[in-house]
Amino acid sequence: MSEEHNIYGSPPGTGITLPPYYLPTPSVKNKNNYFPQSEPLGPDEMRIIFMGSQPWPPRLTQAGTCIMVELGNGKRFFFDFGPGCLRNIITNQVPVPEINDIFLTHLHLDHYADIPYLWQFAPFNGRWKPLCIIGPSSSRPELGTKAMCEHMTKMGLWTSMQAQGMPLADAYEIDVTEFDFRDDGGVCYDKDGVKVTHWRRSHAADGASAYRLDWNGLAFVWTGDGKPDNLTAQYAKGVDVFVTEMAVDNVTLWGLKQGVSPFIGAFTLDNFHTTHYAAGYLANLIQPRLAMACHISFDRELVGEMMAGVRMHYAGMFAFGIDHTVVNVTRDRVWIREAALPETTNTARASAEWLLQNQFDGKMPQPVMASNPFLPIQEQFVRDQEIDPSLFTPKDQMRQWAHPLPPKFPMDPASLQGMQPPPHKE
Ligand SMILES: [Zn+2]
Ligand SMILES: [Zn+2]
Repeated sequence: MSEEHNIYGSPPGTGITLPPYYLPTPSVKNKNNYFPQSEPLGPDEMRIIFMGSQPWPPRLTQAGTCIMVELGNGKRFFFDFGPGCLRNIITNQVPVPEINDIFLTHLHLDHYADIPYLWQFAPFNGRWKPLCIIGPSSSRPELGTKAMCEHMTKMGLWTSMQAQGMPLADAYEIDVTEFDFRDDGGVCYDKDGVKVTHWRRSHAADGASAYRLDWNGLAFVWTGDGKPDNLTAQYAKGVDVFVTEMAVDNVTLWGLKQGVSPFIGAFTLDNFHTTHYAAGYLANLIQPRLAMACHISFDRELVGEMMAGVRMHYAGMFAFGIDHTVVNVTRDRVWIREAALPETTNTARASAEWLLQNQFDGKMPQPVMASNPFLPIQEQFVRDQEIDPSLFTPKDQMRQWAHPLPPKFPMDPASLQGMQPPPHKE
């Protein structure tokens, strides 16, 4: 006879791992799917959307790791920003200027490679204030978050030089908060009732960190990469949603199917990552309301194996946090769905109110004179080779002011931001 039983004491028909609080929160309109921009969060609610979940290889179904946490007070936070996540964030209709406050667990590229892409295009969509990145220092300055941002800015010179002299030039600055990686339990964000703390993780180099976000009696933890450890067991104890990285220990299959050297597979797992057994072990120490695994190659053939590993040690509620998984959390409920997303969409507009408050400090921006950033950076000879636009542009579509751009020109932030309608020509 089986010893398995529902640890929450739930009756027949409710599964053996699902708690009685696994219920849709009041804000949930469709119990099966989350439709972006269709559900205002409750004032005491947290919503977590997995915007990417894969270390390697990138897949049509899995982008690089990124977890978005939204709070009922209107704030949004991003934990890691792996390659491909931006596409998911945009598809979820998060207005681009609102993609800010990015927390990096460490500086392996699978955790931040989409930042340069965001950095280039966010000003185009109206974020004219610096990008806020929060991340760890390291025992060597060149391994810290500040150094990474400086190097990225240099790498992106083609982009930032085109903004020089324009009022959006500030958007190419990066507002880096580099915290002392050794300050376990230290606070790296404390605003509007939201507190984010961090601690060290055993992974690859000094600086690898985990985060815990606390707000309004709810807590979320993202471990980032690393071996299962006592600090995580301590700081994540009893959180509502505990998200750990997880790697299935099956180096034999990595070799057979993907050509990964068994030595390199074993070396990577044993020195840097949390195996499926370890994820269950850690979850059992932490006893969250919901344990999740992200940063996981979600191979369908291995779901059974992954669960068997987790269930060796942990009997509570568990789910995979892979792309498009949406979790709603209140103090007495947790609900998991998949986002229903269109294959094609565009960037959502930030509201005029949001822009006014967050970009212009509540004051309607006035027109300014900007200077032509292109003048010094391309030789006149090449410009002179351009075919006269009047030869191919319909007469009534010819703009006089935009080409060639004069050395100085007026720029109206308000109209560019959609804060007031552009002038309409009768
Ligand atoms: Zn990683
Ligand atoms: Zn890593």
